[in-house]
Amino acid sequence: MTSENLPVVVIAGRPNVGKSTLFNRLVGRRQAIVSDMPGVTRDRKEGEALLRGRRVRLIDTAGLEEAAPDTLYGRMRASSESAVAMADLVLFCIDARSGITPADAHFASWLRRQNRPVLLIANKAEGQAGTNAALEAYSLGLGTPLALSAEHGEGIADLMGEIAERLPPAEKSRRREAPRAEGEEGEDERPAGPLRLAIIGRPNAGKSTLLNCLLGEERMITGPEAGLTRDSIAVTLHDEHGEIRLVDTAGMRKRARVEQHLERMSVSASIEALKMAEVVVLVIDATLGVHEQDLQIGRLIEREGRACVIALNKWDAVEDRNATKKAILDRLEISLAQVRGIPVVTFSALTGAGVHRLLPAVREVYEIWNSRVSTGELNRWFEDALERHQPPLVDGRRLKLRYMTQVKARPPTFLLFGTRAEQLPDSYKRYLVNGLRETFHMPGVPVRLQLRGTK
Ligand code: GDP
Ligand code: GDP
Repeated sequence: MTSENLPVVVIAGRPNVGKSTLFNRLVGRRQAIVSDMPGVTRDRKEGEALLRGRRVRLIDTAGLEEAAPDTLYGRMRASSESAVAMADLVLFCIDARSGITPADAHFASWLRRQNRPVLLIANKAEGQAGTNAALEAYSLGLGTPLALSAEHGEGIADLMGEIAERLPPAEKSRRREAPRAEGEEGEDERPAGPLRLAIIGRPNAGKSTLLNCLLGEERMITGPEAGLTRDSIAVTLHDEHGEIRLVDTAGMRKRARVEQHLERMSVSASIEALKMAEVVVLVIDATLGVHEQDLQIGRLIEREGRACVIALNKWDAVEDRNATKKAILDRLEISLAQVRGIPVVTFSALTGAGVHRLLPAVREVYEIWNSRVSTGELNRWFEDALERHQPPLVDGRRLKLRYMTQVKARPPTFLLFGTRAEQLPDSYKRYLVNGLRETFHMPGVPVRLQLRGTK
């Protein structure tokens, strides 16, 4: 497991409460890595700690100071914000000897709004010191404070247990999510089950024929399942990587009958299949070229954030293959933002020629859809991208973009921090998204960029 996949524990609090002391205490002699991330993170220390048998990535922030944006404190706060956004757990420290200060209270209230799990720590509580402050700390609304002494090593074993209890389950890969944007789907974990695939497209594109072809090779139907509707059939395919579950195949067959006359329905029906799928195969009848409906479905796939493979079917009946492929791809590229580099497979579902290339393409785009970029790599690229093209002026002032982190996969989603970042014009967003896609090899999957303004 790389350090990127470990649960992230962030130590936060105002200066001098003992964060660094606690960091050193938890990391111990274990390979204390002092990471040198670009820009704001100069003051951020990272290390690995082993807590009750679990490895975690520990981040020591420089503090959550309240300050103007362009002071050192402002930059430090920006750094804390981004660290907290990707935290699986925040250790919020106060100094039990000095009691709760206004700065503690301020940051506690900010922290509550970040929706990350928090463990409240009353440090410098060696002996009986700081009992009052520890009690007072209840008022911060962050749960029961844990009194300990980082310097004297008191209460550290308890702390390790408390942290371990609050981490996401070990068998899951860890999550790094910002609080969710509205309408954003909550799916981030790579589920253990089979890949879920939908085959969609206009009526007569050849979806049923393709399904039969795949099944013919496969000779395997896991019959009607109890609890599902009468005509719902779950179909499972196998390849060398495991199972692939085809979703909504029954609906597909039924629609194929009715929709000869109701073409418009195929778009709305596609939404259902899309919701259940991880990867979508968009089947296009290559003899007819691209229709507006294909584009509508393509935009839906993008909007829903699914990985996509474009299948050009009836290739047996296409005369000038090069010209046809080019014409179709040109048309798609103009109309669909994510299409550049999207996997395109040509085949004949009728004869079976070329169909064997479909599932490998599905697997490949699925991997890309699940991929993660390390924060270090990301920000090295980001600094470079900023240098090549300065962020634009908005209302006569230049936007200050500071830092980027990938908050989730499925699809790859990035969070950009900066002063007034939320005002970033679409053209510059596109510049960044295209750069991300190209640099980190994410062709054909939707790439999301969220903006977070810092003060
Ligand atoms: P940070 O700036 O918030 O990271 O705080 P530091 O870790 O640098 O600690 C600030 C000061 O508090 C240092 O002088 C530490 O020695 C002291 N300190 C840290 N932990 C304890 C503790 O448990 N008890 C006491 N009495 N002092 C501590
Ligand atoms: P669906 O409505 O998308 O499920 O399309 P069907 O699978 O029912 O196919 C519609 C028509 O296209 C049928 O007459 C098929 O025989 C024909 N068809 C499907 N795939 C191919 C192909 O690869 N080549 C040719 N020439 N015809 C095909």
